[in-house]
Amino acid sequence: MTFLALDIGGTKLAVRAERAGQTWERIEPWPRAGVESDLALLRDVLAAVPSGVVRAGVSAAPTVARDGTVTAWPNRPSWYGVDLRRTIEEAIGAPVLFGDDGTLAAVAEAEASDCADLVYLGLGTGVGGGVVSDGRLIRGAGGTAGELGHLPMDPAGPPCRCGRNGCLQALLSPEALSRRTGLLQEKLATSGEVSVFVAEVLARVVVLLAELIQPSRIHLGGGFGVALPGLPALVEERSRAWGRLGHRLPVVATAVFGAHASLAGAMVLARTGGTGLRQSR
Ligand SMILES: [Zn+2]
Repeated sequence: MTFLALDIGGTKLAVRAERAGQTWERIEPWPRAGVESDLALLRDVLAAVPSGVVRAGVSAAPTVARDGTVTAWPNRPSWYGVDLRRTIEEAIGAPVLFGDDGTLAAVAEAEASDCADLVYLGLGTGVGGGVVSDGRLIRGAGGTAGELGHLPMDPAGPPCRCGRNGCLQALLSPEALSRRTGLLQEKLATSGEVSVFVAEVLARVVVLLAELIQPSRIHLGGGFGVALPGLPALVEERSRAWGRLGHRLPVVATAVFGAHASLAGAMVLARTGGTGLRQSR
């Protein structure tokens, strides 16, 4: 039995197959020259997947409706209306389950850390997140809880792609960080100054989450979150300045799966068939 995981992300397509302890993996940077060439790349990679796939789990940066079509991807409007489910199912001949990238990453991180109270924050082209509390994934009334990238942090802050100002991901977007520091975007991830600012912002999130749901661990992932020098220790240090006497703050650590937590979560989805996991809205 082969299980397949896909991470359809903002800057890369990652595909992993697992069968009896053996792993096959491909990671391809994208976007390329438009949606058609991206879909051609997806089909090419899937054509090379080992045979015998019984189910695929997909971590999707875009919003995928229940019928499998992309209904929102602010960074890639040309993907709207793409039938992602049919594209993948036709390529692999097996059913496909979709999940939110941050949510799946939280599930994978909680499972790997054997932790019942864990929050995942993925810092990449946007900010994704997921909340596992008391051993359960928090879904909320509408099924989309844990959108930590849209935590309202500063009404006077920069505009977010969602239409509001000052969301967490707007404060931490490459454009905003570049404006703030005067650094080119490709230099941001190696800058100590950027680490300190990001840590200041994340410390507020940590303290807020600590008061609200008392997680024992907060894991930082995503390409940017993993690359920033010394980020977890800085976030812990800044959080302590905000802590309350007698109240322990969560441990802040780099994600167990590094920048690949969403892919690991997609594999959990493929293996379990979605038991206990939130499906895409
Ligand atoms: Zn927003």
